[in-house]
Amino acid sequence: MTNETQIKRNPRVAIIGAGMTGILMAIKLQEAGIRQVTIFEKKDKIGGTWRENTYPGVACDVPAHMYTYSFEPNPEWSNRFAYGHEIFDYFQRVSDKYGITNTINYNEEVTESVYDNGCWHLQTSKGQMLTVDFVFNCTGILHKPAFPDIKGINSFKGDMFHTAQWDHSVELKGKRIGIIGTGSTATQVIPRLINTEGTEVSVFQRTPQWIIPFPQKDYSDKDKQRVRNNPMLAPLLHKFYSKGFRELFSKLVTGSKAQQAMISRLAKWNLKRSIKDKTLRQKLTPEYQVGCKRLIINNDFYPAIQKDNAHLVTESIDQITAKGIQTKDGKLHELDILVLSTGFDPFAFMRPMNLIGRDGLDINQVWQNKAVSYKSILLPGFPNFFLMLGPNTPIGNNSVISMSETQADYAMQLIEDWRHQQFDAVEPTEEAVKAFMAYIKKGMPNTVWVTGCNSWYLDADGDAASWPYSWEQWITDMKTPDYADLQQHRVKPEPAISAA
Ligand code: NAP
Repeated sequence: MTNETQIKRNPRVAIIGAGMTGILMAIKLQEAGIRQVTIFEKKDKIGGTWRENTYPGVACDVPAHMYTYSFEPNPEWSNRFAYGHEIFDYFQRVSDKYGITNTINYNEEVTESVYDNGCWHLQTSKGQMLTVDFVFNCTGILHKPAFPDIKGINSFKGDMFHTAQWDHSVELKGKRIGIIGTGSTATQVIPRLINTEGTEVSVFQRTPQWIIPFPQKDYSDKDKQRVRNNPMLAPLLHKFYSKGFRELFSKLVTGSKAQQAMISRLAKWNLKRSIKDKTLRQKLTPEYQVGCKRLIINNDFYPAIQKDNAHLVTESIDQITAKGIQTKDGKLHELDILVLSTGFDPFAFMRPMNLIGRDGLDINQVWQNKAVSYKSILLPGFPNFFLMLGPNTPIGNNSVISMSETQADYAMQLIEDWRHQQFDAVEPTEEAVKAFMAYIKKGMPNTVWVTGCNSWYLDADGDAASWPYSWEQWITDMKTPDYADLQQHRVKPEPAISAA
């Protein structure tokens, strides 16, 4: 608990983005008694990824009681794995409860953040200028849709959209629909498309995926009542699922042979028992290890892809024409609608915002070869700038909420030290950043990501974009700031203005 009497000063803070992490930071700052907080949100609502992704079937494959803030349990979840709209409503309720919703500057994108002498100067799309002491960049990891570089893509005359930009005005019933991609998103949307009346759905698969089942469960009113009446139950469920998922999936990706063998068996069994036709099963069988690409938890994809109106196309795409997709075998797959489930740019982070640090340092220069950071949150040359969910944050099928909460606690410790005038500005040393990146690299050979597949978990050099160690290691590493790794600056006072 902050002892207000000992605090010497309070910072001005900007939060960029009002998604899960932005709301979390607003709450943490509020709890610390920091009032001068300005939140910018580029859209007209809170919610980040859960506002943007509204494709049919959108859900979270992390159990709902685990995918909640640790301090805001939610007895109202309707399903074991929550659907997108309910997750959005949860964040909206939390934001309302803490009085955040009405304080946000909506439809206002931060276009530029420039550091100078202990302060950040922000410029927004509405022409507003704001000066603050700290910036929390809460723009999320996967927010910039990736569009495939396929010849003729703009010549398609039907309706075409990315899953993260779903066009709900387009009627699906009775249409010939093509979908490119078979990742976590695609496997959620494909069954919905196939199960829509009168559709013919062609799934263009470049690489098959390992899929494991995990039964969905509807929570009845009685179930919810039980959780409501027993305040210990939701936190217990949070703990139970978090521990279970970390034991299974975080260990799977960070090198546990036992988890690898067990989940591998489960995925192979799931494929064999679900897909009756041998040729189809062959097409759906990955050649890489389970967990190399993000493990998919899904119960609906295999039943759906065997329906008569589903067509799995494994021939490579040659080009997109006005009428549909032409595959390398010369076949034209005529389509009315083309859905691009082709993922995101995982290295965009705060970009396209123009971010200029100390001595005119441009983030695009610093990250020219690689998105580097110190402990996934601080950047060299960008003092007092917190990059929430920065490079190397995600770990397996874990909840990113818990990653954000850990980072929030780390950042708040630095803010407390600033309030006590320990420093005016803080940033990691070059050596500390190099050491951290070497540490990430060192963890790679143990992970399953390097076992021979392409995925967004790897950067262009084949280094991890994710956290290659255990959850426990993450908690240990993020526990307290290590000032030996940090440069602390004192800010030169502004020169006095002469009266002459
Ligand atoms: P993704 O995992 O990156 O999958 C993209 C898909 O598009 C892959 O199948 C990829 O094939 C294919 N693709 C891309 N470019 C292509 C091209 N030019 N030609 C043919 N195929 C192409 O994207 P995502 O499914 O949107 O998932 C991204 C991440 O979002 C997940 O890893 C997860 O972290 C998160 N997510 C989470 C949930 C959840 O329930 N928690 C749900 C959805 C998404 P290749 O495999 O051959 O590259």
